[in-house]
Amino acid sequence: MAPLRDALHVLVIPYPAQGHVKPLMELSHRLVEHGFKVTFLNTEFNHKRVIAAMGSGVDIEGDKIHMAAIPDGLGPEEDRNQHGKLIPSMWSVMPGYLEAFIGRIMTDSYESNIKCVICDWTMAWALEVAAKMGIPRAAFWPASGAVLASLHHIPRLIEDKIIDANGIPSNNQMIQLSPTMPLMNPDQLVWLCMGDTATTSEMFNFFLWISRTVELVDHFICNSFYDLEPYVFEQFPNVKPIGPVMARSSGANFWAEDSTCISWLDQQSANSVIYVAFGSHTMLDGRKVKELALGLELSKRPFLWVVRPDLTSGKAIEYPDGFLERVASRGRMVRWAPQYNVLAHPSIACFLTHCGWNSTTEALSAGVPLLCWPYFGDQFINETYICDLWKVGLRLNPAESGLISRDEIKEKLDLLLGDEEINSNTKKMKEMATRSVSNGGDSLKNLVDFIEKIKA
Ligand code: UDP
Repeated sequence: MAPLRDALHVLVIPYPAQGHVKPLMELSHRLVEHGFKVTFLNTEFNHKRVIAAMGSGVDIEGDKIHMAAIPDGLGPEEDRNQHGKLIPSMWSVMPGYLEAFIGRIMTDSYESNIKCVICDWTMAWALEVAAKMGIPRAAFWPASGAVLASLHHIPRLIEDKIIDANGIPSNNQMIQLSPTMPLMNPDQLVWLCMGDTATTSEMFNFFLWISRTVELVDHFICNSFYDLEPYVFEQFPNVKPIGPVMARSSGANFWAEDSTCISWLDQQSANSVIYVAFGSHTMLDGRKVKELALGLELSKRPFLWVVRPDLTSGKAIEYPDGFLERVASRGRMVRWAPQYNVLAHPSIACFLTHCGWNSTTEALSAGVPLLCWPYFGDQFINETYICDLWKVGLRLNPAESGLISRDEIKEKLDLLLGDEEINSNTKKMKEMATRSVSNGGDSLKNLVDFIEKIKA
């Protein structure tokens, strides 16, 4: 690596999940365009995955993005999708590793000066380390402004007895976070949607602690845009939306992209293909996979389905008998897609999604309507906004058994693709999202302003 002494240098620290690493890597590419050198600090576990997925010959901006790693404290075989286990482990070991890492950078021959530590807000312990070492700090929020607002309001929600000291709502009344914000369903508070009781409690304490770290933050940026959630950014003028941050550059995938699906899409008719992807985290059991496969078959439409190697918790996926033969001429499965390019492809008609925030904003930017199948965390709130507020998608309703049936999938696909209001709203949304990151747009102005401030 070339010496960085006297260069504009930032240290970027994502939370170790795909939907956090990707937008922060994209932000790193923007920083490089503005003259920065970036040290991108993954956990060792994810560093290995990202390097393996990049393959050989990938140039991270000609060495301007230096990929580095520190341990997360878990053993090699432990499950990093269990956030209730991962977070306490990171919290206990990573501050020490980070301090030593920054210490080495400061005394090392290759760098003397870090202009700013930019960390995911969910890695707020890094803010404490940077503050202790006298380094300026920025927090990046990778999810919606609405979820950000709910975390900011935790102390008041406790004070007003809307939730108890463990984060449990005192009743099932809708929550009004501020006079202009849409009502929030208490069941959708993010810490209540992350697992069992122990995980809920762990996550709530974590979010409560995060909500108290704002005074350590010099700059607060968020992957949303003003026109999408004006009631949030009016309320928190110090939080600057810079999104949608579109994850289209190299250096951040946990699995190698299969780009052959783009030439397959080239052969499909315009506005015909159902894109099916559940992000990096969602697991489906055998019954769900079967209904989904049969629903796609019933739809009689072409489809591109991302079947991650761990989609069925590491078990080999079992398609219904004869399914692969019956859909061979119109169905394509890949392990991991170049999602940005897929959503931008003219053949895509709609996106059957788990409603992860990145997937949601990527679809809004591409003007693609959404069929919602949320699984975890903030995805339930995102579904509510998509279907009830922005009206750019429809929800899949489970039957009494809890299962989303093949008929429900087929019926909702037909409804979604024939819905003129949704179609017109997605077009307007695409214009709004595009405007925000174009010259003169709010998000681009906020990004440039942020970059100028950390350069100073
Ligand atoms: N993604 C991708 N290829 C895929 C599926 C997903 O590149 O086949 C990307 C997607 O574009 C998004 C990220 O992975 O940027 C997933 O983030 P999201 O917030 O949607 O979901 P999460 O993985 O956090 O549940």
